[in-house]
Amino acid sequence: MNLKILPLLVLLTVGLSLFASGCTGPGDSRVNESTGQEVKVTESGEPIVVAVSVLPQAEFVEKVGGDKIKTVVVIPPGADPHTYEPSPRELGEVSQARMYVTVGVDMPFEKVWIDRFESINSETLIINSSNGIKLKELAAHEHDEGEGAEEHAGELEADHEETGLDPHIWTSPANAKIMVENVYEGLAKIDPGNETYYAQNRDAYLKELDALDARIREKLEGKKERNFMVYHPSWGYFAADYNLTMIPVEIEGKEPSAQDLAELVDLAKEKQVKVIFVQSQFSTRSAQAVAEEIGGEVIAVDPLAKDYIANMDNVSDVFARNLV
Ligand SMILES: [Zn+2]
Repeated sequence: MNLKILPLLVLLTVGLSLFASGCTGPGDSRVNESTGQEVKVTESGEPIVVAVSVLPQAEFVEKVGGDKIKTVVVIPPGADPHTYEPSPRELGEVSQARMYVTVGVDMPFEKVWIDRFESINSETLIINSSNGIKLKELAAHEHDEGEGAEEHAGELEADHEETGLDPHIWTSPANAKIMVENVYEGLAKIDPGNETYYAQNRDAYLKELDALDARIREKLEGKKERNFMVYHPSWGYFAADYNLTMIPVEIEGKEPSAQDLAELVDLAKEKQVKVIFVQSQFSTRSAQAVAEEIGGEVIAVDPLAKDYIANMDNVSDVFARNLV
């Protein structure tokens, strides 16, 4: 920046904020620290409580809701979302929320929650964040993730009944945009007085997600071997969006047998896989075993991190570095 104009900018900023504070009475409005925009506070001034299942959803709700809302995250960091069982105390807390944003795909605890809300006649608005997302099957071992998988997404083959649909919808920035839209619609419904504010926040965040998507495409451009191995198949939607092939180590939610491991090692060699991705919520033992056999390494990537954009930038850097 040109240093000569800096004092001028400072003066201008101070002047503007004085002007802004001078023409509104205290209590009607405040300035949103992240956007610098002036916003009207809700009648009571208290933030609206919105419950979500997993951390990335909290990020989406906070980006759209700004300082009007407060989030409660149901799945604690480090817990496995597929098997998590809420305690009665947690159920009570979440049923106090004005809105609950579900993942909406194959998360058993969410059904427990929704049934409970219905039985206690809760006023909580349930928003299914997967609404409008094209769902696909959870990738299984020996299941080709190429073009064919896309075509029969949605139908459950007999041998996939155990695994069902892939709930990790947020790992695709394109899906994240749909989830953000769903969050916006929910917030506009429970707090129509602030609809414009939510719409502005949504638009700003959608732009950031578009930029993220463009950065990821650029990083992965020109990679020839687009196969990667991962312990738990969390990156199926990411793989589909960026034309990558995910090979899961875990088999229907379980550690692979010795026989499976031998097959995985052969597959890794054949597909020139050098890295096996893992996440902290799951054991890394079998991923480690495959890595040793192929002379590769195990790298942790977190699909459940809160700071979505920074995390996806980081994850795609790791992918780009490890694809040939
Ligand atoms: Zn998972």
